[in-house]
Amino acid sequence: MSLSQPFNPKVHPQAGVFDPNVFEGSLMDPTENPEQANQIVRELTSPDVPLMPSLPSDKMFLPGGYVDQDGELHQEAHIREINGADEEAMARELRNPNVSVAKVVDLLLKRCVLEVGPHRATPQILGEMLAGDRASMMLAIRVLTFGSDWEVEEFPCRLCGKNFGTVVELDSIGEKRMDNPRVQEIDVRLRNNHTATVALLDGASQMAMIGDGNRTGPEEISIAIDRCLKRYDGKPVPLNGIAQTLSMADRRAISTAMSEAQPGPKMEEVMVTCTECGQEASYSISLLDLFR
Ligand SMILES: [Zn+2]
Repeated sequence: MSLSQPFNPKVHPQAGVFDPNVFEGSLMDPTENPEQANQIVRELTSPDVPLMPSLPSDKMFLPGGYVDQDGELHQEAHIREINGADEEAMARELRNPNVSVAKVVDLLLKRCVLEVGPHRATPQILGEMLAGDRASMMLAIRVLTFGSDWEVEEFPCRLCGKNFGTVVELDSIGEKRMDNPRVQEIDVRLRNNHTATVALLDGASQMAMIGDGNRTGPEEISIAIDRCLKRYDGKPVPLNGIAQTLSMADRRAISTAMSEAQPGPKMEEVMVTCTECGQEASYSISLLDLFR
C-alpha cells in the first residue's frame, strides 16, 4: 500500500495494520469467542518478519528411565541442539575455578531438554532423574549439536607416552542399561550381615553433593549416603547424619555399589587406538572435554 493511497478500513488490511472494524458483527466481543478473536489477532499480527527456524531437536532413549508421580516409567527424552545463549552460559560456568561436570550438565539440561516422556522437562523432573540418564542426555545433546565425531588434536597415549591426533566416535561409547528401570533402589551387603537399601543417585542429590565446589570426597559421600540411604536392615533410617556413623568400609561399599548400578554412558572406558604405537587402550573421558 503506497502512502498516497487513502486508508480504507473496510478493506481487509495487510498484515500488521489494525482494522478497527474486524470485531464488528459476530465478533463484537472478543471475550465471548476468544478462539475466534485469537485467530483474528494472529492474522493481523502475523508479521512479515521471518521467524527464526527452530533448532533441530531429537528424541533419545534413556538407559535408565524416569518414573513419574503416577509410577509410570518413561524412557524417552526430547532434546534440542545447543544455541548461542546456551553456549555463552556454559562458557561462563566453564570459566568458574570450581567448575564441576555435574554443574555444567545441570545447566545445559535445564536449557536443552524439552520433554521427558509426555512431561515438560521442568527443573524438578530433571533433578529427579538418575545421574546416568542425565549424563546420557548430555552426551546426546553434544552429538546432536556437533555430530558423533570428537576430534582431539593432542591425545596422550598412556602406553607409549606420545601425543597423537585422533577422532573419537562418540556413538561407539558403550552404554549401561538398567535391567529393571522401574526399581531404582539397590540392596548393598554391609559387614556383619547388615543390609543397606539405597536409592540410586539423582540430579538433585548430585547437586547437593557438590555444594559450593569446595567439599572433600568423603564429605560428598556423606551427603550422598544421607540422601540416598532409605533402609538399614529393612527399617527406615533417620534422614540426616547416619552417614557419619557408618564405618568407612561400609560407606565405601555403599558408594561403590551406587556408582556401579548407575546406568549411562561408560565414559570411564572409552577405547582409543594410538596412531603412534598402534595399541588400543581404555580411557576415562570427562563429559566436559567434549564441549571445550
Ligand atoms: Zn601409543
